[in-house]
Amino acid sequence: MPPRTTRAIVQTGPRRLELRELPVPDIDDDSGLLRIEACGICGSDAEQYAGILPAQWPLIPGHEPLGVIERIGDRAAKLWGVDVGDRVAVEVLIPCGHCRACLAGHYQVCRGRGGMFGYSYVPLSRPPALWGAYADYMYLDPCSLVHRMRKDIPASLAVLFNPVGAGFRWAVELPHTGPGDTVLVLGPGQRGLASVVAARAAGADTIIVTGLTRDAQKLTLARELGADHVIDVEAEDARRRVKELTAGRGADVVVEVTANSPVPVAEALHYVAIGGRIVLAGVKGFKPVPDFVSDLVVVKEVHIIGAFGVTARAYEAAIRLIESGRVPLAKMHTHDFALEDAERAIQMLAGEIPGEQSIHSCLVPDRTRS
Ligand SMILES: [Zn+2]
Ligand SMILES: [Zn+2]
Repeated sequence: MPPRTTRAIVQTGPRRLELRELPVPDIDDDSGLLRIEACGICGSDAEQYAGILPAQWPLIPGHEPLGVIERIGDRAAKLWGVDVGDRVAVEVLIPCGHCRACLAGHYQVCRGRGGMFGYSYVPLSRPPALWGAYADYMYLDPCSLVHRMRKDIPASLAVLFNPVGAGFRWAVELPHTGPGDTVLVLGPGQRGLASVVAARAAGADTIIVTGLTRDAQKLTLARELGADHVIDVEAEDARRRVKELTAGRGADVVVEVTANSPVPVAEALHYVAIGGRIVLAGVKGFKPVPDFVSDLVVVKEVHIIGAFGVTARAYEAAIRLIESGRVPLAKMHTHDFALEDAERAIQMLAGEIPGEQSIHSCLVPDRTRS
């Protein structure tokens, strides 16, 4: 029997979360209802929690949903190619399909439904309210993009489709990474580690990762996931090390996925090879970049590429890689949290809990099933 109500974490303002019981809506021909198995947590969750991201409260956070289709309309089932009981990964963006961005193939930056329209970004006031994955059940809008996934993979591993998908888009798809390329990843967080995994899968030749002294554990993990070299930028002369490791040429691809500090953006220009590509994916709170020497862009003919979202192609690559079992991705996953512990999960990811460090974590609403 489908449930009548669902538990959901509701954010009512900056750093204010509460557990509520909300009605489960009826499903029409074009929509669906997802039973959440796990919801991944990333830096955006921390920004949303802190109130840095623009938002209309109250809302249900949670934009990395993995779950099982509980109910689905006939038309949606046909269109999406899934049915009741299937496990799916759900894309965060719910594109309109008709705006200029969508028609140009950039659906991940669709603004056709008024601002950024996606799971965890739509307020509770918009029916049927269940627009986030910090809950037992989530509504599936008719324009949802879902990807089927094998059910025998543990949920906490399967939910890595999101960071690994970002790795494929940012470190491979956008900079056209391939065999022979040297890839330098700035920042060993979950997106940085995912970039290592994706670049390795794409056949990159040499992969280098930078981090801070406090990232030692993450840098060790980067090596286990396929990085050839790691650099502690606080203990070593990173520019010199990159030169040494690339026979003086610099990196063909630099992926910038550090959080908050704009300094690595300026540094990337020193690391990149002539004709190389720099992908900027880490957001900096709209701060300007000091010491940005634009002449380096000119004289090296550097391509600088902005990366915001992930594409269906990259998600599919991530899901196939997770299903293959070829990479020890489970090592990235450090913590599972109950729904009631959402606040603690976010604070730990943001490094606000002394002595505790998470790399990838997720909420698992029904822990008896996982
Ligand atoms: Zn995320
Ligand atoms: Zn659109």
